Amino acid sequence: MREFQLIEKYFKPLAKSCPAAQNLDDDVAKIALAQNEELIISKDVFVEDVHFLLKDGGFKIASKLLRTNLSDLASAGAKPLYYMLGFAKNNSTDEKFLREFTRGLKAIQNEFGINLIGGDTVKSDRLFFSVTIFGSVLKNSAMSRSKAKSGDLIYVSGTIGDAFLGLHCYKKSQKNSKLLQRHFFPTPRINLGQKLIAEKISQCAIDVSDGLIADLEQICRASKLSAEIEINKIPLSLSAQKFLQKNSAIKVEDLISGGDDYELIFSVNRKNRHKVSEIAKRLQLDLTCIGEFKKSSSQKNIVTLFDDKKRKIKIKKTGYEH
Ligand code: ADP
Ligand code: MG
Repeated sequence: MREFQLIEKYFKPLAKSCPAAQNLDDDVAKIALAQNEELIISKDVFVEDVHFLLKDGGFKIASKLLRTNLSDLASAGAKPLYYMLGFAKNNSTDEKFLREFTRGLKAIQNEFGINLIGGDTVKSDRLFFSVTIFGSVLKNSAMSRSKAKSGDLIYVSGTIGDAFLGLHCYKKSQKNSKLLQRHFFPTPRINLGQKLIAEKISQCAIDVSDGLIADLEQICRASKLSAEIEINKIPLSLSAQKFLQKNSAIKVEDLISGGDDYELIFSVNRKNRHKVSEIAKRLQLDLTCIGEFKKSSSQKNIVTLFDDKKRKIKIKKTGYEH
């Protein structure tokens, strides 16, 4: 299939009736902004055999590609608007793949109210994608990694470790639909991010992609703080708890360095604790306090992990290294 035919058949329907996309007939897209808003932009590159396997199929690949990108917008508290798609195709991207891939993109567009507004298509030996995603916030309201304060509480959304265990099950061909679901279909915490800034609950968040500890370290480095957390407070799903009971070789320590959770870690001033409980109820989403930010003592162990008796637990691995 020629490139313009591919765009015509598979990409134009995803850009339909979106003025910014200019029907994919132009060299550029055009985003109109309100005066009191800022664009929030993020890019991810997604490579075969690194971030996905071809056997996952186009639907799952497209879904994860956009979900992980949306999660970056969630960490800023942005409202998702548009995305652009870089598509490096190879021999394996036949029409079946394209149908499934664009069906996956469409499902996410519908769920999160975003539109495709452009991109580029090239031939490559290896299949890979790149998404640039655009969102908006009111000026000066976006959360960032650098804005945590000493004494702020550390919260985490949802549960940690399900995706790591899901990947484990996938590799070992074990059936566990809940954990597999969390691996393939992470939930970007878009509503939570927007609420956190709208209600002035938090100025600082990050999404957990590399691992809870590793990503908490990123906040500490950017905010020039250290963090103390308690292992017993790490929220685990029922599925994860059951899994750990049956598989003693895997520990909570593995889950907090596993990554791919796409939950938010965010900082909260103590006086806003009750507001956090309110939005947890409203969103029906667990929001758990796992510790506290402290003044930075040393640059070496910026995150300290404690057991229930306040004894330090040695952290062997903080997260996934790219
Ligand atoms: P150029 O020749 O400038 O690289 P193209 O011919 O690649 O432009 O693209 C033509 C139009 O199709 C543009 O509007 C572009 O944004 C869109 N397009 C190309 N590839 C993709 C893609 N993978 N996803 C979305 N839109 C695309
Ligand atoms: Mg052009």
